[in-house]
This record gives sequence, structure tokens and C-alpha cells, in this order.
Amino acid sequence: MPTVVKGVISRTKNAPTELVDIVIPEPGANDVVVKVSTCGVCHTDLAYATGGINDEYPFLLGHEAAGIVESVGESVTHVEVGDYVILNWRAVCGECRACKRGRPWYCFDTFNASKPMTLTDGTELSPALGIGAFAEKTLVHEGQCTKVDESADPAVACLLGCGVMAGLGAAVNTGNVGRGDSVAVIGCGGVGDAAIAGAKLAGATTIIAVDRDASKLEWATDLGATHTIDASAIDDVAAAVKELTGGFGADVVIDAVGRPETYQTAFYSRDLAGTVVLVGVPTPEMRLEMPLVDFFSHGGALKSSWYGDCLPERDFPMLIDLFLQGRLPLDKFVTERIGINDVDAAFKAMEEGRVLRSVVTL
Ligand SMILES: [Zn+2]
Ligand SMILES: [Zn+2]
Repeated sequence: MPTVVKGVISRTKNAPTELVDIVIPEPGANDVVVKVSTCGVCHTDLAYATGGINDEYPFLLGHEAAGIVESVGESVTHVEVGDYVILNWRAVCGECRACKRGRPWYCFDTFNASKPMTLTDGTELSPALGIGAFAEKTLVHEGQCTKVDESADPAVACLLGCGVMAGLGAAVNTGNVGRGDSVAVIGCGGVGDAAIAGAKLAGATTIIAVDRDASKLEWATDLGATHTIDASAIDDVAAAVKELTGGFGADVVIDAVGRPETYQTAFYSRDLAGTVVLVGVPTPEMRLEMPLVDFFSHGGALKSSWYGDCLPERDFPMLIDLFLQGRLPLDKFVTERIGINDVDAAFKAMEEGRVLRSVVTL
């Protein structure tokens, strides 16, 4: 039977969000109904609400979630009713060219639920990143559910579903940070600080946090930065990074902002043949102009990180285990726990840089 639950939607561009009744259909053959426990508030939700993604309103917002499997479609084998899961927005297909080449984190045919969730008048909802979890329940594909150790606090676990995974993975997966490396991270919000935590986890010995906001540099230090650079106080960040790395530049520089000027800083802050990882998301109108010869003469690797190049089935349980063992302080990313009515206030706090993550608890 279809179920009616409460969910937070964005009905039209730039309008405040609304808490309304939504209809969860019976799960299709490979679909799963998840009772949502928690859902982090991500910049991408705000981007949906403000028209930055597409105009397929109304959106059911929320995509960084943990919960309990409540019911499953007839062909589901991947999870069972009662499983504690983190949701992901890239359920890999196993069949596309990327998957068959053994690089499933680039899968371009990822799965979502087979049926739409709707408003009570039948209007189809577009779930944010194919999830839609600022809701008491949501409908996803079984591959979007990854079972993890149920002793992990869901307010912490859910953060692996998007931003924290993107940052951790930018360092550990895309940047391939290793023991003894020097790492610089530009932009110390949730994603950048997760990259710092990832660099620390991977054994980097010099971890330089760069931001224009003193409170963000404090968060960064708390999460493992060994040095900080206040970019509002100096002209040449790249020179400052070099000074902290024996005159060479960092082995891996992660741009968690995604603007032409931060990318340029990242590029010139790295050591010869070092790696730049772009994980901050630029907007379409941004342009970068740099001497082509510099790309040649500096060598190395320029990479972009999608969702931290993660594989949920590989990475979520492992990172949760590291958290439970006290080796990865994921709990420090939870700045506040809020109710389902507080999403707009959380958007504001996020825009003002007052929070690493606000987490809706249901
Ligand atoms: Zn695939
Ligand atoms: Zn997100």
C-alpha cells in the first residue's frame, strides 16, 4: 500500500521550503522503502531550491541520509527489512563501460527507484540526487543502500552519504595521499575539513589548511591540520604553502572551493609533479586563464573528484568502523541537530559559514 508521510519540498525557485504530505508508493521489484533516521543539510539541497541544478520542481530535498530498511521489493537481495543503512546517490550498475573496465566509481548508469514519489494530488516529485530524504520515509533503489555497523550514531553516519565522503575521498581516493605526504586544502567548510581528516587518516605529516575565515581554520586544526594560512591576511598563498613545505610546495593540493582563483592558487601551491584535486564545484560561467606552458613545466596530475571517487559498498562500512574505533572523528562534523521544520534556518547558517553540518533528526 502507498504510504503518506511528511517531507520537505521546494515547490518553486527561491521560495521557502514547505513541509507537506508526500506519497511513497509500493516499492518496485528492486526498490526499498527506508525509514529515515537522519539527513544532513548539504549545499546541493540549497542549489536545488534556488534553481542551481535544474527546473524540475517540485523537489523533495535531502540526500545525505541514514535510516532503517522498512520494506523491500520482491527482487531485492542486497538488504533486508530492519537493516541500518547509509544512502548513496551513485548506485553503480556493474554493466556500463566504466564498471566493466573496473572503474565503477565512474559509473554513468547509476540506479534510482523505479517509481516516483508524489504529492497527494499525484504531482511527481524530483528527489534531490535521486534520494529525497528530508522526509519520514523515502523510496530508493536497493543499490543506494549500504549496510553499516548499527552502533554508529545515525547523525554521524549519514554524513558519509555526501559531503564528508566527497572530502575524505578527494584526499584518500582521488589524491591518493600517503604516509609522509604534505597536503594543502583550500576552503575549510565541511568538504575541505573532511579532506583534512582524510589526509590525516592516510598519514600525511604536513597538512595545511587555507581559508579566509578564522573560525573555519579552527575547525580545520581540530580535524587534523598541522598549519593554517589565513588567506584574508596575505597576498600570496602559494608562497606561504611553499614556505611551510621546505620551499617545494605540497605533494597534494585540494581545491574544495572550485573558483578560478582558488584553482590557480592550488596549481601553484604544489610541488613539481604534485597533484591538484578539484572537489569544489565551479559554476558554468567560470573561466580560467593561465599560461599553457606552466601546465607542461609543472608536470604532475590535475584531477577532479566526483563524490570522492567513492564506492559506497567499499568505503562506508570501512569509514564507519574507523569512526567507531576512534580513528576518524566524524562526529566533529555534526555542528547541530535540528528538526524537519528547520531546513531553511539551516540553509541560512550554512550560507553564513556558521556550521560544518546541520543534521535533521526524525
Ligand atoms: Zn556502471
Ligand atoms: Zn550533498
